[in-house]
Amino acid sequence: MWKNIKQIIFDADDTLWENNIYYVQATTDFIELIESGGFNRSEIQQAFDDLELKVVEERGYGSHNFVYILEELFRNYSQKTKTPLDAEKLRFITRRFEEHPVSIPQLFPGVIDTLRYLKTKYALYVLTKGDFKEQQGKILRAGVHECVKEYFILPEKNDAAYRKLLEEHNWLPAETCMVGNSPKSDINPALRQGLFAVHIPYRDTWKLDDEPIEARDGRFLELKSFEALQKVF
Ligand SMILES: [Mg+2]
Repeated sequence: MWKNIKQIIFDADDTLWENNIYYVQATTDFIELIESGGFNRSEIQQAFDDLELKVVEERGYGSHNFVYILEELFRNYSQKTKTPLDAEKLRFITRRFEEHPVSIPQLFPGVIDTLRYLKTKYALYVLTKGDFKEQQGKILRAGVHECVKEYFILPEKNDAAYRKLLEEHNWLPAETCMVGNSPKSDINPALRQGLFAVHIPYRDTWKLDDEPIEARDGRFLELKSFEALQKVF
């Protein structure tokens, strides 16, 4: 079955390059900062989770929305304590995300070599969700656009998004494979639409992108690294 594959679609964040680790680090630092005002750690985490969910639903993904969450929570907590919270520290945490739009993504080992190899045999594409400019910038600065035929940046990667992509390009599900780290955005919707799927787990997948993998039939494969794709295809 795998030999019929003609096109391979790659997720970007945490599949081609590091991403969530920066958010995890910033969240940890932020919780510590608020905790210093005498607040309970698990309550801060809960408040963060609640607001994150709300912001993602209302405003979508992207680092500017993440920064908004931190600033909003900082304001709320500042009003609830007599101990002033360290605004300098908040700036230090959020400043790192201002550098993101200009920095080169840290690609995982062998990504470009693997893409160059796969490109000789398959039509390659990137499918990522999030803020258009932010994601496009990362694709271009990483040099990934030179290895793929086209990249797609969507607000969400759900069943409808995969269906539409297949329809628009006249791709058959049985000839298409999705590669990614997220069970929720890459693997499960692709499998439900009849695509092949290769899961490359990331050590710290964002919890809003995680869920159990639904099907484990002949169309599903799990690999330890991106480079290992060269042994499969
Ligand atoms: Mg991802």
